[in-house]
Amino acid sequence: MELIVARGREDLVKARRAGTVALVPTMGALHEGHRSLIRQARVRADQVVVSIFVNPLQFGPNEDFSRYPRTFESDLDVCRAEDVGVVFHPAAEDMYAPDRQVSVSAGEMGRIVEGASRPGHFDGVLTVVLKLFNLVQPDLAVFGQKDAQQLALIRRMVADLDLPIEILGAPTVREPDGLALSSRNRYLSGDDRRVALALSRALRAGAAQLTPAEIRRTARAVLDEAGPGLDLDYLALVDPATFTEVSESFEGMAVLAVAARVGSTRLIDNVTLTLNPA
Ligand code: AMP
Repeated sequence: MELIVARGREDLVKARRAGTVALVPTMGALHEGHRSLIRQARVRADQVVVSIFVNPLQFGPNEDFSRYPRTFESDLDVCRAEDVGVVFHPAAEDMYAPDRQVSVSAGEMGRIVEGASRPGHFDGVLTVVLKLFNLVQPDLAVFGQKDAQQLALIRRMVADLDLPIEILGAPTVREPDGLALSSRNRYLSGDDRRVALALSRALRAGAAQLTPAEIRRTARAVLDEAGPGLDLDYLALVDPATFTEVSESFEGMAVLAVAARVGSTRLIDNVTLTLNPA
């Protein structure tokens, strides 16, 4: 079927087919990680809508909004190859009126871990995701575990605001050497890329340990070994539902999350592990 490009609500209404709709929100520069989300959406719904929008609200003043990769034509090819029904590609002026007032607050959970490094980021994410939900009106939306705190906050928003949408979390897609795919990986030089491998290596080494203290210490040691080319922002072992640090006696699933700057590029990654299994 022909791929439809929608720019606004009217286009979306016209493009809507009978049956269920799954939304895959993205900022474009599509890679295999996005493709795996699209495939999961396709098996779960009759029609897949992929949104491509570099959301100015979720970038801080010193972040990479203006240099964020924009590859719309090749993104359309990816969407055609993946049998996507609709690409929603709004203009920033259409999404945000100059006099807009009301937005979503991510609350305390939006101010810790990743949110502590990026003030306002998660408010911007939740605001755009709620707008996308209202515009597309999907039955289901798919998000990557790669952005684990984002996924947790979207689940929180759906619960706290009673949104009638099912949220599906999808596993992180990696390069064969462990590097998590990211649109920002294209900024890494050859040397940067080698240094960047310390993130996934540290997470694997940490996840192989048994106690929170050992997990944190082991992962930290691997990051320290990477040398001055890696500027660690945080390493956190948290409860996946709240993103608060877990105690030594915590039982159940936990997320080991890392953020670091490599060269001029800020990278994040995480793994899920089980602590103190019965
Ligand atoms: P982005 O375009 O980076 O905003 O990401 C759009 C969606 O793709 C988000 O739900 C991300 O979590 C997800 N995503 C990004 N990278 C990956 C990856 N390597 N594996 C799986 N999902 C990913």
